[in-house]
Amino acid sequence: MPATDLDRPRWPDGKRSCFALAFDLDGPTGDAMLDGSIWNNPAYFTLGSYGPWRALGRLLGMLAERNVPATFFVPAWVLENWPTQCAAILEGGHEIGYHGYKHEAFWTLDRDAQRAVMERSAQVFDKYLGMRPVGFRTPSGDWGPDTIGVLMEAGVRYSSSMRGDDRPYFLPAQRGGTPLVEIPGRWEMDDYASLAYHRNPNFPASLDRIASYDTTLDNWRREFDGSHRDGLCLTTLFHPKVSGKPGRIALLESLLDHMHAKGDVWFSTCRDVAQWWHDEYAPMNPKEA
Ligand SMILES: [Zn+2]
Repeated sequence: MPATDLDRPRWPDGKRSCFALAFDLDGPTGDAMLDGSIWNNPAYFTLGSYGPWRALGRLLGMLAERNVPATFFVPAWVLENWPTQCAAILEGGHEIGYHGYKHEAFWTLDRDAQRAVMERSAQVFDKYLGMRPVGFRTPSGDWGPDTIGVLMEAGVRYSSSMRGDDRPYFLPAQRGGTPLVEIPGRWEMDDYASLAYHRNPNFPASLDRIASYDTTLDNWRREFDGSHRDGLCLTTLFHPKVSGKPGRIALLESLLDHMHAKGDVWFSTCRDVAQWWHDEYAPMNPKEA
């Protein structure tokens, strides 16, 4: 297909651009849970648990008011501990994707250990929600050489883990299988970069200030405006425990209202973006431009 076709991807119903709102519902999982130190740090535990316990419901209500779908990448441990809250994600018509069991860093695990995380997670999703996710966002930033194969074995059809583009693309297929779709995110759309702040452990390490909310919203709007101008796909790395708070949810409301006012945006889950990209652009399934 001509290069110009992918320079300006097609979106459903001739929409100009695509916005796939996505959250990582990490809760208190992560390094401190993996090394056990969180059990001696109850304040840090509650900072994380605020996400599924309190912020998630507020976010789901806001999304229902605006009729915007979202994808939530959920460590399976979070589902085990807040099953009712997590079930509301599906009841609201949103998507749930894999995000480790306790937010393991896949690049530190060998193939068998990665498999064990995926298998245990699949069992938890099946037990509590009667479903198996098809999406995956790698926890803690990166993955290893075995990861794509492990994901394909687990029935994953897309990832939102990498940073290398502002459109979806195909990851290399393993042994002739269907290639995974990658929906890359960017730090500019990670709420940790501007809004996260905590002590013990310190984040940011230098304990700089939380960014101005006006500046944060302006940054996010500009990222959307550029993506929309060029007809691209924008996703987010937002966290309910960071941006689902009473003062900050107004930033998300303003961002979504700005998008609605622009119009001509395909609001989609990551799953539907991946399916669209596969159907339109998979090498074995080309359509004429
Ligand atoms: Zn995460």
